Amino acid sequence: MKLHEYQSKQLFSKYGVPIPKGRVAATASEAKQIAEELGGRVVIKSQVLVGGRGKAGGIKVAKDPNEAETLATHILAMTIKGLPVRKVLVDEAADIAQEIYLGITNDRAAKKPIIMASAAGGVDIEEVAATTPEKIVKIHVDPLLGLRDYQARDIAAFIDLPRDYWRDFGRIANGLWQAYLANDATLAEINPLVITRDKRLVALDGKMLIDDNALFRHSDLAEMRDLDEEAPAETEARKYGLSFIKLDGNIGCMVNGAGLAMTSMDILKLFGGEPANFLDIGGGAGAEKVAAAMRIILSDPNVKAVLYNIFGGITRCDEVARGILAAMEEVKPKVPMVVRLVGTNAEEGRQLLADANMITAETLADAAQKAVAAAQAA
Ligand code: GDP
Ligand code: MN
Repeated sequence: MKLHEYQSKQLFSKYGVPIPKGRVAATASEAKQIAEELGGRVVIKSQVLVGGRGKAGGIKVAKDPNEAETLATHILAMTIKGLPVRKVLVDEAADIAQEIYLGITNDRAAKKPIIMASAAGGVDIEEVAATTPEKIVKIHVDPLLGLRDYQARDIAAFIDLPRDYWRDFGRIANGLWQAYLANDATLAEINPLVITRDKRLVALDGKMLIDDNALFRHSDLAEMRDLDEEAPAETEARKYGLSFIKLDGNIGCMVNGAGLAMTSMDILKLFGGEPANFLDIGGGAGAEKVAAAMRIILSDPNVKAVLYNIFGGITRCDEVARGILAAMEEVKPKVPMVVRLVGTNAEEGRQLLADANMITAETLADAAQKAVAAAQAA
């Protein structure tokens, strides 16, 4: 789950990371009022769950409350990378001397958290990572020992941070680590962490990703989820306990089991197809869940064919078949559907579906090829 900038920064500040004074507004007049309260220059920041807001024109500095109102009106009317802006953060503007990058994420290969920093922070950090990766320092954090003071000092030295800032930088790095650890984050990032002209370190931007599988023990964070910002299909999928991720291809996939779902996607690609989604309906899925999954898959206008790959173990194939048929009654799909069913009650399931004019397949390779051909014909 992604947190908004304002949510991330509020969390960071609980762990001692300095952030600018500011508040969120949903209307331009509220933005103006906040600007009046703050006095002086403010920055109006679109709150959408994508990166690159600055480059998209979603971050603007206003010299006074009137300009804050004008800019907020403009930004609140924007759509950034497909997401409508519904809120803006109005922060005291900072006078920036330098922008630093500081982030912590999981290094899956090393099975450890990794802290990264660069003196070349700001909106071009992806460019820095791609073209001059040597400008980014990366240090693994031992999950049992936590971030050590010497590691924070090593980072400060690497990014040529003047000595005067080392103590504060150490506190900020440690605060970010604590925020990452305590909230089961998979990413905690400050970009930019700035040195201001009046010589303070301040986190101007904040980004956090929380591990969905850990949300059950963070009800306070779960409540922060912004449903307005989420693809409706993903909200719907969560409601039914389905693991769903939308992708860019045109072959919808409904599979039971995450490993089997990935295999199905791989094999579609092998035969020249592109999956439209990852969807794991889970073990023991009944008709209702299957119907929900079908609705979700077909709500994507890119979908030109659907591949069902069901391995019946706990999930019974005839039960899935009945679910598919019930869903077809309801959804009335217009795209071809290819089904591969094996395992418990497969014969019965396949018969039910063949009677309903679905394309059946014996093997996954056969099913994938039929699905690719059906999508290409459409
Ligand atoms: P992002 O583009 O989504 O990462 O949004 P950021 O919050 O990082 O803002 C993008 C850029 O806007 C920053 O790298 C800064 O250069 C600039 N910016 C953000 N806040 C301020 C501010 O208070 N004052 C000034 N002068 N620039 C700011
Ligand atoms: Mn940023």
